[in-house]
Amino acid sequence: MSSVDIGIDLGTANTIITIGGKGIVIDEPSVVAYDKKKGCVLAVGSEAYKMIGRTPEYIVAVKPLRDGVISDADMTEAMVGAFIKKVSKSMMLKPRIILCVPSSVTDVENRAVVEAALSAGARKVFLIKEPIAALLGAGVDITKASGSMVVDIGGGTTDIAVASFNGIVRDTSIKVAGNRFDEAIIRYISNKYKVLIGEKTAEKAKIELANVFKPDSAHTMVIKGRNLLRGLPESIEINEVDMYEAIIDLVDEIIAGIKSVLELTPPELVGDILSSGIVLTGGGALLKGLAEHIQQIIGSPCFVADNAIKCVAKGVEAAFNLSEELMDGFEKISIYRYK
Ligand code: ADP
Ligand code: MG
Repeated sequence: MSSVDIGIDLGTANTIITIGGKGIVIDEPSVVAYDKKKGCVLAVGSEAYKMIGRTPEYIVAVKPLRDGVISDADMTEAMVGAFIKKVSKSMMLKPRIILCVPSSVTDVENRAVVEAALSAGARKVFLIKEPIAALLGAGVDITKASGSMVVDIGGGTTDIAVASFNGIVRDTSIKVAGNRFDEAIIRYISNKYKVLIGEKTAEKAKIELANVFKPDSAHTMVIKGRNLLRGLPESIEINEVDMYEAIIDLVDEIIAGIKSVLELTPPELVGDILSSGIVLTGGGALLKGLAEHIQQIIGSPCFVADNAIKCVAKGVEAAFNLSEELMDGFEKISIYRYK
């Protein structure tokens, strides 16, 4: 990988960018702030994140990929272009870019993102399939004719795939991931305690308190919200069992997705997975007790990859050296304009 290679993990929640020789240079929320009057990007990443819900009408601060579909193609293109310009400012040569976009994004939308990368000055653009990047970043050897299973749980989507011999054998993408957990926590707390909490509070409770394997009601935390009956601020004490009850049905939807992929996987590869185990990556993989819960239901070993949130970005970075072997997990995009 050379200093003009840029790797981009365009996640629904976070965008992580690597530059050859420097490693990770950007790790910020996938947010763009756009001035509709002037037709220009005001900020991307952390700076734009601070503006959400705080801008006048003609400025929009949005998470354009939030649910794993490109809700706003123009905003996505603007965000990708601005991120690339931000990191390639001092580059003498045009960069090669490997992009990883959520698997649920359609081909047409992918093309738009590639187009944005080309307009931002890329010399060559490749798209890498997310599960392939996740496995590479988790340090799994996918070159052998042996099955590996990865479950990448992000903000908007969970990608489940079986790979073997550098390619994807079976996969699915479901729209149950971190954001849906947060929404379920908000609903549960408002039903049970009649207190409305914000998205950030729900996410904090999920990260600090949730436990989906043997939850203990003695483990508690205090959160703040607005009492729905009286309209006033209120602090309440919630516990692990609350969190479990709030999100377990969604966790089980992810497990149903894993089962459906395994059912369609050739038996030899299923045998490999039963012995080598299921790898969890993405921020959602850090949910306490998740690996144990999956292991108990599916019956194969299951473990969280080291540095799970960064696996896809690390895999994208590693892919620059593997473009020949990996052609199956890659899509080469013509540098010519197709519009
Ligand atoms: P994406 O690839 O879609 O951008 P990430 O892999 O960055 O998503 O994961 C973001 C999601 O991970 C968010 O929903 C966040 O709340 C969740 N998350 C991060 N840390 C934890 C944790 N310790 N426990 C549970 N969920 C977590
Ligand atoms: Mg991701």
